[in-house]
Amino acid sequence: MPINNRIASFSDEMTEWRQHLHQNPELSYQEFETAKFVAEKLESFGIEVTKGIGGTGVVGVLEGSKGDGPTIGLRADMDALAIEEKNDFPHKSKNHGIMHACGHDGHTTMLLGAARHLAETRNFAGRVVFIFQPAEEMGGEDGGAARMIREGLFDRFSCDEIYGVHNWPGMDVGDFAVKAGPMMASGDGFEIHIRSGGMHAAQPQKGVDVVLTAGHVVVGLQQLAARNTDPLSSIVVSATQIHGGDAYNVIPNEVVIRGTVRAFDPDTRSAAEPALRRIVDGICASTGAEAEISYTRQYPTLVNDQNAAVISQAAGEKVFNSVNVTPPQTMIVEDFAFMLEDRPGCYAWVGNGPDTDGRILHSAWFDFNDEALAFGASYFAALVERA
Ligand SMILES: [Zn+2]
Ligand SMILES: [Zn+2]
Repeated sequence: MPINNRIASFSDEMTEWRQHLHQNPELSYQEFETAKFVAEKLESFGIEVTKGIGGTGVVGVLEGSKGDGPTIGLRADMDALAIEEKNDFPHKSKNHGIMHACGHDGHTTMLLGAARHLAETRNFAGRVVFIFQPAEEMGGEDGGAARMIREGLFDRFSCDEIYGVHNWPGMDVGDFAVKAGPMMASGDGFEIHIRSGGMHAAQPQKGVDVVLTAGHVVVGLQQLAARNTDPLSSIVVSATQIHGGDAYNVIPNEVVIRGTVRAFDPDTRSAAEPALRRIVDGICASTGAEAEISYTRQYPTLVNDQNAAVISQAAGEKVFNSVNVTPPQTMIVEDFAFMLEDRPGCYAWVGNGPDTDGRILHSAWFDFNDEALAFGASYFAALVERA
């Protein structure tokens, strides 16, 4: 068996921790009981703990017994989602309307498992920083990763490399996926207000039709993907909301369009905002409407460092049954991308088993697969215990 047998020997205990966390989920920045649970466990392993970085964030520091070496940051997320759980098993959520539907209960447990093993053995050089972050699901500048960094995470706990994982439904338990370079998308939001005076629906010549203008804008936005972006680079521009008008015989004075832009290549991402502004301003100038555009950069592209990806792959090969180094990219976003902008590191996927029967991320029927716990914990330990 490729997983660390020492860690596998306390799989049952990890399962208890995971199911306890699943039963007691907390929303972003409300992870008070979760953070307490994490801090108490770390302290019971003899790890030095700092609480309250980024609200409910918890950081543990452990020195190895083999002298100088790199400082390796390992990160797990702790928050749950505002979803009413539909599962009916004994560890179903006790908090109404809140659920661990993204498996962060499993991520937290895997990192606790690695912490216990590393604290009991200390068979490594350098030090390890265990990072338990809040509010992954909130994301953006307000999310847990950016906030922990703003509150001095890497100034206080300097890390040479950082690593994190997400469980991946649809990949078998015991399978692992990682690749260098962009792996998960950037995600940005836009809000466009198109304004004019408004007028009688039967007298369009007396003003500017903001509804027709909005129609041109929605179509024009697709120029971003179709004409402004290298055809070999991916981008998705989706207008997801249009609001305007209250009466069938009135052309309103405002229409609001909102949506999201997702990309992989940082240059493609950066080029999208000025192109979007140019398209919207140009269309509105052509009809005479006034445009107000706000564009918010929310999640950076998750880019894995080349060297860290090699280290991650090597650790993965020691632990998992199979390692996929060419997984498909996903347009899903991930808050760990902020940490990877600050420090070199690598994010990887850990198989969670079949994605049937609602076992997909953010589903009311999701449940982290406890059989994956020993794999993830062994992987974290292998990153630290490498020669
Ligand atoms: Zn999620
Ligand atoms: Zn997640």
